[in-house]
Order: sequence, then C-alpha cells, then structure tokens
Amino acid sequence: MSNKLAFIMLDGLQYQTAVEQMGYLGHLVEQKIAARYLVKSEVPSMSRPLYEVLLTGTLPHKNGILTNQTVRLSKEESLFHLTKKNGLTNATASYYWVSELYNKAPFVQLTDRFQNDEDRAIQHGIFYSEDHYPDSHLFADAHHLMETYQPDFLYVHSMNIDDTGHKYTADSKEYRGSAIRADIILANILPQWIDNGYQIIITADHGMNDDGDHGGTLNDVRDVPLLVISDKVRPDDYDQVVRQLNLAPLACHLLGISPSKEMIKVELPGLLNQ
Ligand SMILES: [Zn+2]
Repeated sequence: MSNKLAFIMLDGLQYQTAVEQMGYLGHLVEQKIAARYLVKSEVPSMSRPLYEVLLTGTLPHKNGILTNQTVRLSKEESLFHLTKKNGLTNATASYYWVSELYNKAPFVQLTDRFQNDEDRAIQHGIFYSEDHYPDSHLFADAHHLMETYQPDFLYVHSMNIDDTGHKYTADSKEYRGSAIRADIILANILPQWIDNGYQIIITADHGMNDDGDHGGTLNDVRDVPLLVISDKVRPDDYDQVVRQLNLAPLACHLLGISPSKEMIKVELPGLLNQ
C-alpha cells in the first residue's frame, strides 16, 4: 500500500444499520482486512457542521459552521488545503456543500459541477446538487477522478442513505435497503481501489432517527461507523468509542503529512507507527 487515501463518507449512515445491513463490510472485518470502530459524532448532528468537523478536525463552536444554512467558505485548514500545501494531488466527488466550504460559495449549479483548478484548495472536483443523485453514479464519478488524476487524497461523499432516511425514517426497509445498495457498490469497487494502492476510510457524518431526522444528541444520530483498511492500522472489531475529531488527523497520518495546528493527536486503538 502507498500513502494514497480514498476517504468515503456515506451521509446519514448510522452505526447499527452499517453493522447489521452491510455484509461486504462485515466480511472485511471478520476476515481481519478492515478495522471497525464506533465513532461518536460531534453535535449538532447536522451535515454541513459535520463535514467541517471531518475535513478540518475542528469543533463547530470554533469553526463557526453551526447550521446547514451557514453558506460561506471555511476559515480552517482542511484536508484539501493540507494535501495541496504538501505537494499532493487531491480530488473529490461530493455534494455541493463541500465545494461551498472549500472552493467557492455560493454554488452555481450550471457552472460549478466540474471544477479543475490546481490553485484552489480542491484541485479536481465533481459536485452534485440533488440529494437523490444515485450513489452508483457518484462512485463512478469518483472512479473517473481516480483513473484520470491518480489523486493522493480522494474524498467520496454519497447522499442516498441520508435522503432515504429522511423520506422513510431509519426504521424502514427503504433506509436499510439503501445501506445494502451502498455495500454492494463498495463490494464492486473497493477491491480495485485497494489494488490501485489506496488505503480506505469509510465513515459517516451523522446517523438517522426513527422520525427520519437528525440534529440531536441521541445515539441513533450520533453513532456512526468507521472502517479503515491500511497497513498502518491493525484490523480488528474494536469496541472503544472514537471521537469524530480523530478523522482529519487520522487521514493526515495515513497520507504521511503533518496535521494542522488545530487538529488533535490521533487516539485510535490499533494505530501503528505514530
Ligand atoms: Zn440529512
């Protein structure tokens, strides 16, 4: 494995659903190919604030991204900024809020879908702006970025699980089905990405509750999965709860670059060579 990293963020995937419904990921854990953890998200358990937590390793009260309606560029140093600063190549296939946080705000649907500018924080981006944009297409976008630019850091952000949870609640065959479909997509694509030398992170921003919502402090909306496939992390099914602030500095560690000054020192059982 190289230092390349594919960071996959499945929006709205609660921990329990990931463990119970995603059999390919379960197989990777059982066969000691992946490490699995329970991550406790920060609050509010809302999307845009948690994108900023995941990508900058800073808390909402500090970074100021406190609601989904906070439409402005981030003032923090993100994984995109850090990879670019270290001479690495980055790319993302993501929901348009990621463009608004790190490249340009507000998002202009007709002109901002495809972005290629190595002077910006996000060097290569494909952005969608409909919550039902199919995960199958999103992962094909990500695969195109990988094949075209061989990015050191590829951030992949899907939305169908969250969208389905809002429409049908977490306690629905539709929500569970959307997690199963994401698992099948991963089973089709991850072996190839791993063969390409990529380390893999799979996690979520927040979970989903039985009202079809998230935002609060209970386990159903705060507990999300983390899977790591890397020769820098010992595979196991860990039962320690991991803080979400660890994700950004963990990504730096896997990429072989220094974290930002604001990031915490990674606390992750099974992490090697720190
Ligand atoms: Zn949502």
